[in-house]
Amino acid sequence: MPVADYQTYCKMLDRAREKGFAYPAINVTSLVSANAVLRGLAESRSDGIIQVSTGGAAFASGSSVRSMALGAMSIAEHVHLMARRYPVYVALHTDHCQANVLDDYVIPLVEQTERRRADGRPNLFNSHMFDGSALPLKENLDIAVPLLERCHRSELILEIEVGVVGGEEDDVTAEGSMTKLYTTPGDMLEAAKRLNTVRGSRYLVAATFGNVHGVYKPGHVKLRPSILKEGQEALENAFGPEGRFYLVFHGGSGSTLQEIHEAIDYGVVKMNIDTDTQYAFTRPIADHMFRRYDGVLKVDGEVGEKKAYDPRTYLRLAEASMADRVKQAVEDLRGTGTTLFAP
Ligand SMILES: [Zn+2]
Repeated sequence: MPVADYQTYCKMLDRAREKGFAYPAINVTSLVSANAVLRGLAESRSDGIIQVSTGGAAFASGSSVRSMALGAMSIAEHVHLMARRYPVYVALHTDHCQANVLDDYVIPLVEQTERRRADGRPNLFNSHMFDGSALPLKENLDIAVPLLERCHRSELILEIEVGVVGGEEDDVTAEGSMTKLYTTPGDMLEAAKRLNTVRGSRYLVAATFGNVHGVYKPGHVKLRPSILKEGQEALENAFGPEGRFYLVFHGGSGSTLQEIHEAIDYGVVKMNIDTDTQYAFTRPIADHMFRRYDGVLKVDGEVGEKKAYDPRTYLRLAEASMADRVKQAVEDLRGTGTTLFAP
């Protein structure tokens, strides 16, 4: 299928909320990992989201160019070309973009979509995240509201973050400042009040409930999904059932299945997945290098084995393993067989 259009993406999110499942949003940094996600989703008969972080995008542009915007465009163009060969819908999203890099990342990508629309072409991305969680809430929303207005004009969905996700992507350590890791109902109400002024717009909210980026053994992360429940109840009291947020779960690696399902039950429709698929990608490469070291290396004056060191040999294994991990993510999120695509 072609990359989901706005109406399809909205329908995907509505359906997830209605049926009680969530979409995996998987970070990719190369053609190989993008292909792995497409394959995993297709084999799961599930729609899903491919996303690119600022660092992943810069990487994709090559170490000499190092342009976040160009790298993201390159991956998006590839997905636009390939997605039509898979019998599921995929949406394209950009991950965490802090205020200081908006002009280098999200804004040029929104401009690219604006140019494409003027030419009668489909949007480049479906949604973008602005991460103002490092700022006081008022400043966060002062940037988010006009950005949402602009996104809405081009049928783009905006994801924002209220509260701070701990772990490797910021300076907050999981043990250090636990109170900041939980979004309050008051924060969620304030965000809704401001964002709802952009009539008819669609947005996603990453609220934090003890989630952390990076690797933690199961049970180590002290998640409190009830934070989401309390926030949603406050929103419903203030704005009615339609006022409940479409939530995003960041930093979910190492969470138990029960915690994931609880979060979905409280309105999570998108779960970001990076660490677990990174490991799945690298695991068979490590295996290949260890088992066939005398083929990938030129040992003792030997010539090695071309088949063993041809990068396609091990990247193919990586693609398959990552695709399997995507399938597991879909299963964990109760999404298997939920694609909107009907042949
Ligand atoms: Zn995140």
